[in-house]
Amino acid sequence: MTIEENVTALLAELPLGVELVAAAKTRTAMEILEAYRAGIKIIGENYVQEAERSYKAVGNKVKWHFIGHLQKNKVNKAVAIFDMIETIDSAELAHEIDKRCQEIRKIMPVLIEINSGREKQKTGVLPENAEELIRGIASLTNLSVQGLMTMGPFSGNPEDARPYFIVTKKLFDEIASLNIENVTMRYLSMGMTNSYMVALEEGANMVRIGTKIFGER
Ligand SMILES: *Cc1c(COP(=O)(O)O)cnc(C)c1O
Repeated sequence: MTIEENVTALLAELPLGVELVAAAKTRTAMEILEAYRAGIKIIGENYVQEAERSYKAVGNKVKWHFIGHLQKNKVNKAVAIFDMIETIDSAELAHEIDKRCQEIRKIMPVLIEINSGREKQKTGVLPENAEELIRGIASLTNLSVQGLMTMGPFSGNPEDARPYFIVTKKLFDEIASLNIENVTMRYLSMGMTNSYMVALEEGANMVRIGTKIFGER
C-alpha cells in the first residue's frame, strides 16, 4: 500500500467531524507531501528540529501540530512553526509559550496533555490536577486552551487503552461543564494506529496516526 492509498482509505473510514493528524516523526518531507496530496491537512511532529526541516519544504499547505515533549528552550522555535501545541502539561511551559507568542503576536491553540495511565516516567498532567492547571493558564492572552490530549500506556492490545480514553473523555466533559473563560473543550485528541477505533468509540474527535499512513518506522 502506498501512502496515498493509506490516506484515502483512512479518510473514507473516519466519521465526519474527526480531525486526522498524520504523525510524521522520522518521515521525510517527500513522504509528508505525498500524504498532503492524498488529502492530509494536519501534520503532527514530535521534534522541533525535524519539524523545521519538513516545514521548510512543505510550508503552510498543511497545519502543524506539536505532539512531542516540548522543552522550554525549544519554545521560541516551536511557536514560529506550529499551529497547535497538543502537549501542555505544566504552567511553566504554558507561560513560556505565552511569552514567546506575545513577541510574535500570535495566539497559540493548545491542548492539555493528560497522563491518563498515571505513569511515573510519562509526560502529561494527572487527571486530578488538570483543572487547576487549566485555571492557572486560562488568563494567558496568547494561549487558547481548546481541549485535551492523551497517549495512555503503550500496549499491543487496543482494548487495553479503553479505560484511559474513558477517563480522559470524562475529564473533558467535566472541564467543559465548568465554562472557564478563554477555555473551550473542542478537541479530544486520542488514539494512534492500533487504538484509534477504540478512541473514536470513546469520544475522540482528533486522532494521531503514523504507522497506518506511512508504514512501519
Ligand atoms: C508516533 C505518535 C503517534 C502515532 O503512532 P502510530 O502508532 O505510528 O500511529 C501518535 N501520537 C504521538 C504522540 C506519537 O508520538
